[in-house]
Amino acid sequence: MKIAIGWLYPTLMSTYGDRGNVICLQRRCQWRGIEVEIVPLKRETEIAEFDRVDLIVGGGAQDRQQEIVMRDLQGAKAAALQQKLAQGTPGVFTCGSPQLLGHYYEPALGKRIKGLGLLDMVSQHPGIEAQRCIGNLVFEITATPIASELEAMLGEKPVVIGFENHGGRTYLQDVQPLGRVIKGYGNNGEDRTAGAFYQNAIATYAHGPLLPKNYFIADWLIAKALQRKYETKIALTPLDDALAISGRKAMLQRLGLSKLAVAK
Ligand code: GLN
Repeated sequence: MKIAIGWLYPTLMSTYGDRGNVICLQRRCQWRGIEVEIVPLKRETEIAEFDRVDLIVGGGAQDRQQEIVMRDLQGAKAAALQQKLAQGTPGVFTCGSPQLLGHYYEPALGKRIKGLGLLDMVSQHPGIEAQRCIGNLVFEITATPIASELEAMLGEKPVVIGFENHGGRTYLQDVQPLGRVIKGYGNNGEDRTAGAFYQNAIATYAHGPLLPKNYFIADWLIAKALQRKYETKIALTPLDDALAISGRKAMLQRLGLSKLAVAK
């Protein structure tokens, strides 16, 4: 078996170690004998490359890089990405990239950046004087059906542990939140929503990078990609995640949340 992972704008959008998400997916496939091809989706990339990826990863970016990306992600490229996600290609989008999947992002300085409008949400930076949302972020995944699928996989409620650093605040409209904030700011520091979930795409402010800290999401994405590609139910070989689990336990303890199940 083989999957192609499309990596959106690797040099422009990979803050706070977000490239770790790509490495995590790649390794977890390779350890199971699944071949991986990383397909950078960047300015020089032809549309056909967008069409052939089985899974899409987008990282964070600063406002200036987001603008460059959005100038490029127009027309046929935007349509190709929209179509893939609408059809259920799994994807994981962190921080700056989800802002671009919404209707718009209003940076602290400069003009509103128009997004793809795929996620029914808007993001606004309240201005350079406003405090950034920085710190550890913990949330429970509640979106349907991912929450119950992960719970079946783990035998407990899926809890995401990450780190956030964003100036923009995201307000959801008609789109499901990915989860509910237990600690941290989440989408906007007001309504306790964390991220968004659309078809098989996960949007979140959680860096970490997200996937090594929350390896079960990586496996969920890989299984979805393989199921779609090979049109058959996939049972992934279990891996030894003892190190990640002890890291998660230590983090929850440090945050005074040790009563939470740790997603074994
Ligand atoms: N530029 C965005 C913000 O500050 C995203 C930052 C990021 O990706 N970490 O809101």
